[in-house]
Amino acid sequence: MKKLYLIKLGEISLKGQNRALFENRLRHNIKDKLRPYHSNVVKQKGRIFFYIDEECPDEVIDKALSTTFGIIAYAEAVVCEKNMEVIRSKAEYLLKKAGLSGKETFKVHARREDKGFALSSYDIACDLADLIHNIYPDMRVDLTNPDFVLNVEIRSEAYLYTSQKKGIGGLPAGTAGKGILLLSGGIDSPVAGFEMAKRGVNLDCLYFHAYPYTSDEALEKVKTLAKLISPYLGGTRLFVVPFTQQQLWIRDHAYEDETTLMFRACMMQVAERLCKQRGYNAIITGEALSQVASQTLPAMAFTDSMTEYLVLRPLVGMDKEEIITISKKIGTYETSILPFEDCCVIFSPKHPVTNPDKKLMTKHFEKLEMDKMLDQAVEETQIFAYNAKGEEIENN
Ligand code: ATP
Ligand code: MG
Repeated sequence: MKKLYLIKLGEISLKGQNRALFENRLRHNIKDKLRPYHSNVVKQKGRIFFYIDEECPDEVIDKALSTTFGIIAYAEAVVCEKNMEVIRSKAEYLLKKAGLSGKETFKVHARREDKGFALSSYDIACDLADLIHNIYPDMRVDLTNPDFVLNVEIRSEAYLYTSQKKGIGGLPAGTAGKGILLLSGGIDSPVAGFEMAKRGVNLDCLYFHAYPYTSDEALEKVKTLAKLISPYLGGTRLFVVPFTQQQLWIRDHAYEDETTLMFRACMMQVAERLCKQRGYNAIITGEALSQVASQTLPAMAFTDSMTEYLVLRPLVGMDKEEIITISKKIGTYETSILPFEDCCVIFSPKHPVTNPDKKLMTKHFEKLEMDKMLDQAVEETQIFAYNAKGEEIENN
């Protein structure tokens, strides 16, 4: 036996000729999270009907559907013949299953996609409202704020469902190219990854680790964050770049007030090397305008100029409070606030430049002659991998 889920698609439904591409990717992304359970998918206008082994626990299905971009809502549904007699008996079954007290307000929401069906949406709704009244004479109709909703959709068959859950919207991961996310242990960068994955970008993560200045716990924290965002990303890899030698070099050779920016320049150049090697289209950071000294407009203009690749900062216009709200919603906040410092904090100058001159800074950066050291950092990269369920897996 299989359980059936009706999945509502948001923006994907508005796509034109390439809609199938988005739908296929979504189907793949959902199935990927529900393996080893067997599932199959039937597509219909604006909907995906998803059948899965009955043994698959509801929580597993919930976790999969509520973390997959491209879904605006979903509900467990029952399917039956397009015949009012049969529809009524299914509706009765759902009413009983809902465990109503009989005092609730209700609404019937009917939708007739198959215009060949004899009754209009309104007629279907009235018919089923009568049925509900017959069983529960005290239940009243409330069209704006009902306690209970019975949904019926007439398509190739009739589909009925009661409680629907909200999805996270967006577009399926993997439909908008590949990006590399600069993931630190903070609050911002996991949220930045979530926001770009929401628009369909396939993301891997990159972390600069300055051991022993940043501890093993700091690395574990970043690994946990990668694991936590992995379901939204449809699986991800974490590149850990050893960066102690390079940090010390900057500390000892750069002007003190410029050290943070020099470090950020290095980050961009390492990210760029990975883009070239592995075909990423963009570099993503968790920067927000004016949050810290290295996130002023001139500072960001300088770091941008350190790479030919597109640098995306999805949080640039957000307040910290807004970022924290999302971080709590996606479940990364508690990990992000653990007290292990990242390397930027430890090597931070007392008075960092906030209004750098791009030309002058570029000259200073070139004088540091770090090309070989950056190549070496890339060569020594360690890679961890996580699947779409958020489990660590072998990297291959
Ligand atoms: P976050 O909360 O994401 O750590 P932040 O407010 O602490 O951000 P910064 O430390 O200035 O700000 O970092 C800005 C961005 O640079 C981060 O959001 C992240 O994308 C990237 N970043 C900073 N440190 C690292 C690191 N050690 N490894 C990888 N990326 C980093
Ligand atoms: Mg940080």
